[in-house]
Formats: sequence, structure tokens, C-alpha cells
Amino acid sequence: MKIIMLGAPGAGKGTQAKKIAAKYGIPHISTGDIFRANIKNGTELGKKAKTYMDQGLLVPDELVVDLVVDRVNQDDCKNGYVLDGFPRTIPQAEALTEALEKMGQKVDFAIDVNVPDENIVKRMGGRRACVTCGATYHMVYAPTKKEGICDTCGGELILRDDDKPETVQKRLNVYHDQTQPLIDYYTSQGILRTVDGTVDIDDVFRAITEFLGA
Ligand SMILES: [Zn+2]
Repeated sequence: MKIIMLGAPGAGKGTQAKKIAAKYGIPHISTGDIFRANIKNGTELGKKAKTYMDQGLLVPDELVVDLVVDRVNQDDCKNGYVLDGFPRTIPQAEALTEALEKMGQKVDFAIDVNVPDENIVKRMGGRRACVTCGATYHMVYAPTKKEGICDTCGGELILRDDDKPETVQKRLNVYHDQTQPLIDYYTSQGILRTVDGTVDIDDVFRAITEFLGA
């Protein structure tokens, strides 16, 4: 089973990807992990990627696709995989489709974990971080015993810049511009499945297993 995860930052697609990987016994592949592994092992692709990253440049699509294709060709991917964080753009998606076709493979499902922007902004806005020890909390989902005070060290809790509504909305706008077209792309291929990401983590997962099968 070959699966692509789609969904805005903060929609919880990484969490669902991990659950899918565990239940179906297939690897959870994130591009960040692929980059780190290749650079650490000093592979040719890793060295190439590093020259871009060292200059603060984006790794070009072809190279990202090469890295992903190289990863999905490994033994542990024989029965499938969950791709998380790739593809991000239409050119990447097209390159992936083409590369897989050459290997006689195709993606089975693209799963969109759908959460409205307002919900994501609200979720992120509830996060709090301790200025002293860095511990993280959530006012609704993981509250501290005393409001505004870190359970671990007694430090003061703050809303990080990254979690502020305006920052979160900016990230979401980039996501919509870039990644939303992928939803149309995989819809036209007939493999898009949309799940409601606003419900409980386990209920989201149950909805996913309904079409993936037991
Ligand atoms: Zn603390």
C-alpha cells in the first residue's frame, strides 16, 4: 500500500502517518529523515543535497525526487510506505508519478487530513512554552496544573511567535497556494481520500482505516 499524506501544517497528518505505518507495518517516510540519513551516510545524493542546504538554497525538485525514489526502492518499502511531507508541489508530484511508473508502481491513496484554517489557528494559539526549560503545553489539550506556570520548573509560559495567529495564517496561505493544487491533481487520478481532521485523533484514524481496509 503506497500512501501520500496531504494536509496543512498543524492538521495532524504526521500523527496519522505514524498510526498508519504502525498498523499496516509499512515505513513512515518523511523527507526530513531522508535528507538527514543521506547526509549522515555521505551518499552521492546526500552530498549533492548538502551543497544546496549549506548555501541556504532549496534542494531542487529533481534531487528531492531522486532521494525519495531511492528511499522507496529500499527493501523495507516492498509492501508499501507512507510519504509525509512529499510531494509539496505539482512538479514534484508529476516527477514522482513518472518515476514510479518507470518502476511499474503507482500511489494507491493520497489522504487529505482536512482541517479548516480557523481550527488550526485556534489549536496553535493554545500552545504555550516555558521560557525557562522549553517544556510545551496546550491550554486545552495539555494544560498545566497552575495557569501560566510550568509544571516542571515553575517558569513562566509564553505563546511563541511561531504559534501566533498571524504567523500560523501566513504558513497556511503558503500551504494553500502550493499544496492545494495537489488535491486537484490526485482527485483527477481518482486516488484522493479526504478525512475530517477536526475530530478526535482515533476517530480520524478510524475513518482512514475504513478505506485502507483492515
Ligand atoms: Zn519550565
